[in-house]
Amino acid sequence: MKNRMKILAASVLILCAAVIGFAVLYFVRGDGKNKNGLSGTKRTASKKTTQKPTQKPEKKTYIVVIDPGHQREQDTSEEPIGPGASETKPKVSSGTSGVSSGLQEHELTLQVSKKLKKELKKRGYTVYMTRTTADVNISNAERAGYAKKMGADIFIRIHANGSESHAVRGALSMAPSKKNPYAASLAVKSQKLSRMVLDEYCKATGMKNRGVMLTDQMSGINWASMPVTILEMGFMSNPKDDMAMKEKEFQEKMAAGAAAGIDRYVQELESEEDR
Ligand SMILES: [Zn+2]
Repeated sequence: MKNRMKILAASVLILCAAVIGFAVLYFVRGDGKNKNGLSGTKRTASKKTTQKPTQKPEKKTYIVVIDPGHQREQDTSEEPIGPGASETKPKVSSGTSGVSSGLQEHELTLQVSKKLKKELKKRGYTVYMTRTTADVNISNAERAGYAKKMGADIFIRIHANGSESHAVRGALSMAPSKKNPYAASLAVKSQKLSRMVLDEYCKATGMKNRGVMLTDQMSGINWASMPVTILEMGFMSNPKDDMAMKEKEFQEKMAAGAAAGIDRYVQELESEEDR
């Protein structure tokens, strides 16, 4: 009995070894087929050739529409302050003027807007302007409509401020509030854009930073359909702001600052999308 058991155990061991041996040989020689009928060796090879390309997708080109505030002749006929609004405001007001420079606001806004366009194009943006001369008649609602028509990602409106007190100076920006009846969905992004444009503008020019003002009374904001900001570049009623803003070299700094703010906004937008 003892011998028989030994022989049986030895036979089982030999059988097992043989089965494992054949199995190893079968796969090592590459005869094993996968579901698609491809041999193991070939499958490894094809895996190498179908690797995904590693280059990044093409960078998006952002479209910026610049609106140089006002025009030579005001248009006092009225339009609704937002889509569906019963409240109306003049289509385009006359704007302010420089207490020392004698410049009209519509002249200053166009001078700086042209420089901003050049600066943004240099940074890779596609840029359009609502006007390139003083002799136009485009209402604030129409300016927002133009930005939409051009497929703008960002709508920046360039203005200068005026005050009864000559002492008031500095820059501010405007954005819709979260309670805006027409543009509430743009509030968060517009406020971010307004903050970044204003901060970079003040950093570049040394202008006093008066902060972001939330407003739901601006037709050109309420009619917008993309992130929007109004940059009030400085007070033309303050002799120091006024005389600084009329200088070409200072205007280059103003444009570079505003462009840097747009750059910061876009970078943050892209890093949010990557997350
Ligand atoms: Zn203005």
